[in-house]
Amino acid sequence: MFMNSGEAQRTESGTEITIATNAVALTIAGSDPSGGAGLQADLKTFQQLGCYGMSVVTLLTVQNTEGVERVEVMPVELAAQQLAAVVGDIAPRAIKTGALGSADMISNMAAQLGDISVPLVVDPVLVSKHGDSLADDACIEAYRDELIPRATVFTPNRFEAEAILDRKCVSLQEYANAAAELQALGPEVVVLKAGEFEGERHHMVAFGGGEVLGMSTSHVDGKNSHGAGCVLSAIITGYLAIKMKEELDRELLDEAIRFAVSYTHNAVLYSPGLGSGVAPVETRIIPRI
Ligand code: PLP
Repeated sequence: MFMNSGEAQRTESGTEITIATNAVALTIAGSDPSGGAGLQADLKTFQQLGCYGMSVVTLLTVQNTEGVERVEVMPVELAAQQLAAVVGDIAPRAIKTGALGSADMISNMAAQLGDISVPLVVDPVLVSKHGDSLADDACIEAYRDELIPRATVFTPNRFEAEAILDRKCVSLQEYANAAAELQALGPEVVVLKAGEFEGERHHMVAFGGGEVLGMSTSHVDGKNSHGAGCVLSAIITGYLAIKMKEELDRELLDEAIRFAVSYTHNAVLYSPGLGSGVAPVETRIIPRI
């Protein structure tokens, strides 16, 4: 019989494979039927890394690469029931949240997640890459007051950070200050994604004690970035689910974030260019870890 020992083994047909025993990750997110973003991108990313993926569906979108036509948020009680059913049976080692769709959904998920002590990666999805809204103003407050304080890792983009802090970031220094300020809301670390300042793309990673690391990536031409935010937060989640031992330490968080920034950049660079709008990123370049 094949055993999930985490060691390399041979199947009956002679293929050598390795399956990490407890590497289970859960995404609580919305569906993107075009497969570029949302829970579809998260599950593909988990699978690439070698992680068993589970998903709680919070909303359905009707969309393709050209835009989001419709958003239907699930009844909150239906999402809550999905979450209780999966975590009561198969324990995830790390969880991420993507699009949650309403303040009520955010509050309920935050309350339920308060009882689950595994690393939580919160990606506050407010708008799609086409500029279509996936959340209203009440969501911003619910994120700030209820979900962000529970996050281990918080991964806003520039627009989301500005909405949560209610001010614009016009310089790199202000971007670094924003990362530190968001970290002070509760997360262990904030990954403030790719803000563009003077032609360069900068990430700001803020740890406790006011320490902020700048990470820059070269600019990628074209607009093939649909799903990039989902993929970045899913890589961090999957990485922690696979590599975390007893305690989550600073070194592992740092390693997970560097890995995620690097492979998300590559996922944008190697986008297959599908569709006629904002093309999806390429998750198939993410290596098994
Ligand atoms: N989740 C869903 C369901 C979406 O439809 C989208 C964007 O369209 C996102 C998340 C965010 O995608 P991105 O990673 O491009 O920010």
